[in-house]
Amino acid sequence: MSGFDRSRVVGVSDEELDEYTCGICLEVFVNPVVTQCCQQTYCHECIHNWLSENNTCPNDRKKLRPRGVSPAPRVLVNLLNKMKVKCDFYANGCESVVKMHELSQHIEYCDYNANRKCKTCHLAIDGNTQHNCIDNLLIQNQSLRNDNQRLKAKNNKLSMKGVISLARKDLDNYEVRSKSRMSSSEVNKCIERSQEMIILLTVVNKK
Ligand SMILES: [Zn+2]
Ligand SMILES: [Zn+2]
Ligand SMILES: [Zn+2]
Ligand SMILES: [Zn+2]
Repeated sequence: MSGFDRSRVVGVSDEELDEYTCGICLEVFVNPVVTQCCQQTYCHECIHNWLSENNTCPNDRKKLRPRGVSPAPRVLVNLLNKMKVKCDFYANGCESVVKMHELSQHIEYCDYNANRKCKTCHLAIDGNTQHNCIDNLLIQNQSLRNDNQRLKAKNNKLSMKGVISLARKDLDNYEVRSKSRMSSSEVNKCIERSQEMIILLTVVNKK
């Protein structure tokens, strides 16, 4: 089922609700789209599921491809957004009625949601333990600090890469110079040293 449970809509007559009901899932439109062939409205998910198995419109049986479906007019989306609906947790006792587009935010903080966020510190509440804002903020602070340290370590590795590429450039330069004025033993020594440096840095970088 992709549509929104009709029985959770408040203050709209059944007759009026039919205008907002998807012909496939028989619930209220979610992400409504319109068919170009006959201007019928369906949930985005419903019509695309249908079209993955059929190549005709469910309403008039004319040929219909996914690109023959376009987003519903803004005015319909606005009407749906303003519809008043019961909370997901009304069966658990939540009596809140909110606008459709405010529902997800309400659920995030709803007192009847075991995985809700705290209204004060905005951190997730673990249903099994007594929530304490200060403790949670301290834990979050620590994990941010750890993230920061990881980032610093990553940056160090990056600069190590820079050193390696510099060493490689040096090596190239020695090779160029070998064709001009440096003696061959001198050049070889330089190349050797650079190669050692690259190996050393590669090993360090891997750690
Ligand atoms: Zn639907
Ligand atoms: Zn059609
Ligand atoms: Zn609620
Ligand atoms: Zn808190």
